[in-house]
Amino acid sequence: MSSLPDKVRSDFPILGKTVNGHPLVYLDTAATALKPRSVIDAVEQVYGQFPANVHRGVHTLSREATAAYEGARGTVRSFLNAARSEEIVFTSGTTGAINLVAHSWGALELEPGDEVILSHMEHHSNIVPWKMLCDAKGLHLKIIPVADNGELFLEAFRALLGPRTKLVSIVHASNMLGTVNPIEDIIRESHAHGAKVLVDAAQSAPCLPLDVQALDCDFLAFSGHKLFGPTGIGVLYAKADLLEMMPPFMGGGDMILSVSFDEICYNKPPYRFEAGTPNIAGAVGLGRAIEYVLDIGFDAIWQHEQDLLEAARAALEEIDGVRIIGTAPEKVAILSFVIEGVHPHDTGSILDSCGVAIRAGHHCTQPLMARFGVPATARAAFSIYNTMEDVKRLASAVRKVQEIML
Ligand code: PMP
Repeated sequence: MSSLPDKVRSDFPILGKTVNGHPLVYLDTAATALKPRSVIDAVEQVYGQFPANVHRGVHTLSREATAAYEGARGTVRSFLNAARSEEIVFTSGTTGAINLVAHSWGALELEPGDEVILSHMEHHSNIVPWKMLCDAKGLHLKIIPVADNGELFLEAFRALLGPRTKLVSIVHASNMLGTVNPIEDIIRESHAHGAKVLVDAAQSAPCLPLDVQALDCDFLAFSGHKLFGPTGIGVLYAKADLLEMMPPFMGGGDMILSVSFDEICYNKPPYRFEAGTPNIAGAVGLGRAIEYVLDIGFDAIWQHEQDLLEAARAALEEIDGVRIIGTAPEKVAILSFVIEGVHPHDTGSILDSCGVAIRAGHHCTQPLMARFGVPATARAAFSIYNTMEDVKRLASAVRKVQEIML
């Protein structure tokens, strides 16, 4: 077993907390990751040392804030291996990024009768904006089905591609099943049909290296808070030529070159898409979080999380009456399960009483819940700070649920 938690646990102040009389076992990283001291310090540094606005100030504090904010953009650029910093737009999160694409690119490029392909395992944030646009513009949604083990039916995807397909918007790693989708193939085949591809990397960015040039995706979205960064900050990567032609989504300060009551001249990307005072501390904190992840390295992160996933899967499979949902061979460290005869909310509450934090609910994937015939699941997600002891505590808390409820 890797010694990664020995190295990193002391970086996370919250792990010293006791919950309901037990040391905290945090297995809800798929909802949001814990924050290391360096990220907390970076946010504090912004407010403590240069709490000024960016881009428009002539004074020193504003220049310092601008340098830190634009520095964070550069960190994101190299993290994604984007060709240019102008291709990195700061948003409020994955949701903000997808809505930006739908409202801007989608409104410009999509015509009545055009088709948008999604999968059955999308998060609501990659369903609702497209459904809204489809209803407004007379587009059609096509859905790639999911097999019983949680993998996509790629043959069905190929059959959905056609001359009216304009966009394939697809999750890289499912936040409910954990399945890692073969996005390289999906991007290549979509492009062969002339369709653009948006990758929802909310759950993959924290544990898999992303190279937007190698992937050749047109858009990619992720959230800072799932990557040990602050809440309320995220990223839209888009190819420069697409951003150049895209109209603004929101109007306001910073996104213009000139304004008169007769005419408005918009700023160039990425500023055109960052109206108003941005989340400066969030962006700087995200930059620091990326540095934190890169210091550890994706090989170490992936190996450790896979070890925990495998151990947790084996431990839960030993317990009669526990059903795991999502058994694809390639998964991020997310384990959804139901205990026969117990509502997942009761599972979550009893686990909480044991100091074990999991997520119970539909995980913003209601179509996927319907697909698997459950109203909700319990979900344990494993990260760099989790240990084999955490896996044991999960399994014994699940047994306790059965003792209490059955
Ligand atoms: N997509 C996926 C796969 C997610 O897991 C999430 C967050 N649960 C989102 C999109 C939305 O992210 P946010 O709420 O940070 O905008």
